Parts: sequence; structure tokens; C-alpha cells
Amino acid sequence: MPYPYGRLTDHKQARQQIARLQESLSEVDYLCSGTLLKRTKVCGKAGCRCAQDVSARHGPYYEWGHMQGGKLVHRMLSPPQAVLMQQAIDNYRRVQKLLREWEVQTERLIDAEAPRET
Ligand SMILES: [Zn+2]
Repeated sequence: MPYPYGRLTDHKQARQQIARLQESLSEVDYLCSGTLLKRTKVCGKAGCRCAQDVSARHGPYYEWGHMQGGKLVHRMLSPPQAVLMQQAIDNYRRVQKLLREWEVQTERLIDAEAPRET
């Protein structure tokens, strides 16, 4: 490719990619780091079916674990809260991926806009 052409194409493509990334990021509402755990419990009461039958165990109970001030913090969630939290966690991973892509496109843009002197 002729010398200035590649740079212009690169510049345009990087700008377009960044615009797409910004659009994707603007659609994100729920956002949380951490992990969601789903547990069931055995109550220990005499005669309760949960002791023998796995499908009769109590729950499910949902617990969200995340880092806060360098410490792992847990919080119990209701089933409807857990559904939203799962979305928030999925979005967090998606946003991280988008940020990495933004970084790649920014490097491309910097090279196209301000090429190194040779
Ligand atoms: Zn039980």
C-alpha cells in the first residue's frame, strides 16, 4: 500500500472501531465485579428429607462475592437479585473486553495520527 494511504485507512478504521466500542459501552447499565455462588443447604433437622435427597435440599441461596478495599466480601441475594447480579457480572466481563479493545484501537490511532519520526 502507498505510504499515506495505509495510515489514513488505519486512522478511519480505528475511529470507527472506537465509535462502536463507545456505543456498546453506553448500553451497559448493571455492572458488578465478583462472582455469584449458588448453594443449597442441609438443615440437620431429624426426619427432613434434605439429609438423604439432594433434590430436597433447602435453597437455592445466592451469594455474591467481590473484593472491597482489598478484602473479599460476601453478600446474600434473593433469587430476583441474583438474576440481575448475574447480568451485572456478565456485563463487567464484557466491559473489560471492550476496554482492552479500546486500548488496541487507541494505539493504532496514535500511530496513525502521530507517527514516529524516522
Ligand atoms: Zn432440611
